[in-house]
Amino acid sequence: EIQLRNITKRFDDLVAVNDLSMTIKDGEFLTLVGPSGCGKTTTLRMIAGLETPTEGTIDFGGRDVTYASPQERELAFVFQAYALYPHMTARENMSFALDHTGVSREEIERRIDETASMLGIEGHLDKNPPSLSGGQQQRVALGRSIVRDPEVFLLDEPLSNLDAKLRTSMRAELQQLHREIQTTTIYVTHDQEEAMTMSDRVAILNNGNLQQVDTPEVVYSQPANRFVAGFIGSPS
Ligand code: ATP
Repeated sequence: EIQLRNITKRFDDLVAVNDLSMTIKDGEFLTLVGPSGCGKTTTLRMIAGLETPTEGTIDFGGRDVTYASPQERELAFVFQAYALYPHMTARENMSFALDHTGVSREEIERRIDETASMLGIEGHLDKNPPSLSGGQQQRVALGRSIVRDPEVFLLDEPLSNLDAKLRTSMRAELQQLHREIQTTTIYVTHDQEEAMTMSDRVAILNNGNLQQVDTPEVVYSQPANRFVAGFIGSPS
């Protein structure tokens, strides 16, 4: 499990995340949700090791990783700008992250083929990203993370560049994927509907403050405060 203990992140005078404590359980799909600027991405970046908290500690399975580099954390991230290499094929993009890790060529190819068929992109592996649709590129980016077989997935608005229809179908696919591989997933979105439909638990942030973390059902039926009720659209 991942434990955030009294995490605060300041940028000069601005408190982006304020005294946040939370435990993310092994295998769960937890979504950080809230309005623009509430501190979602900053929280995810601290979990990733891309930012250091100003105060507080982060533990992975009892190991203090507060100051550990991203490479030391056994995780994979997919950010909004999923940055595939345009001059490499989809297959090369997916194998790239594993090339110097000691995983054998056969095993890399096996994982890519398995992942590509799970994501429905097996027919596109020899194409370069510019000749793929946005949704296909998104799947290649996801596939690239999956083949790394990380302990934890960090996804920051991975569906934000997609049209509404594709977004809905990718939501279902991500849920299905999570059911299949059961990797701990921390997902960031500003879209409360996305958060409520996909997650085991949602963590609702406002102005850097954690408002509530619980299952979608509990957050909806027993919102901790007016902000949560308004944001989620609970019946009043
Ligand atoms: P969005 O949904 O718009 O991406 P968010 O909830 O992910 O928002 P953050 O990106 O975590 O919010 O930002 C939280 C606050 O911290 C914002 O006020 C933002 O302007 C500020 N902030 C984030 N990164 C930096 C930085 N590197 N330097 C200064 N301020 C920053």
